[in-house]
Amino acid sequence: MNKQKRIEIFSRLRESNPSPTTELNYSSPFELLVAVILSAQATDVGVNKATDRLFPVANTPEAILALGVEGLKEYIKTIGLFNSKAENIIKTCRILIDQHGGEVPDKREALEALPGVGRKTANVVLNTAFGQPAMAVDTHIFRVSNRTGIAPGKNVLEVENRLLRLVPKEFLQDAHHWLILHGRYTCTARKPKCGACIIEDLCEFKQKRDYL
Ligand code: SF4
Repeated sequence: MNKQKRIEIFSRLRESNPSPTTELNYSSPFELLVAVILSAQATDVGVNKATDRLFPVANTPEAILALGVEGLKEYIKTIGLFNSKAENIIKTCRILIDQHGGEVPDKREALEALPGVGRKTANVVLNTAFGQPAMAVDTHIFRVSNRTGIAPGKNVLEVENRLLRLVPKEFLQDAHHWLILHGRYTCTARKPKCGACIIEDLCEFKQKRDYL
């Protein structure tokens, strides 16, 4: 795919959604961190239902630590893998208090050292809470990047690196949200809605004709 096409694709995605953001509810870096840890293999809607109850009661490392593992589980037990997520969040709160003055760090290394925080979670927090142009490649971004030809790659790290290199600078900050939303609602896994896709004429997916 050439540069001009990428510029046109992101221009259209931006035009259709000028200020994209995560669909997880949060009002601080710490709330976002907890929500993203909870969102592994869970839907944003399911996580929001749990955090809508949890955050009014506890939205700081100190307050969640005070709930304890069992207390925290009461709020998140509707979410998959809640047992291990509760333990990871409690351990993370302890580290934030002991090593980061109760704040969420804005450095990749420090974030990835937190229990329950992998590269993808760190990228979401760096991008969405701290405004850094990180690229959290999830299943949607991986699919859209490969199908369209924006940044093809065999694994998520390859796609992440290509996106960081190939997405025009002016779109870098918001690119991952546009790609996630495009994958979630239009370029869906089983039946992409190519007939209703605003970048169909630019997309290099060979089978797109089957879905028009
Ligand atoms: S044309 Fe189809 S395959 Fe290409 S981006 Fe749009 S929905 Fe996805």
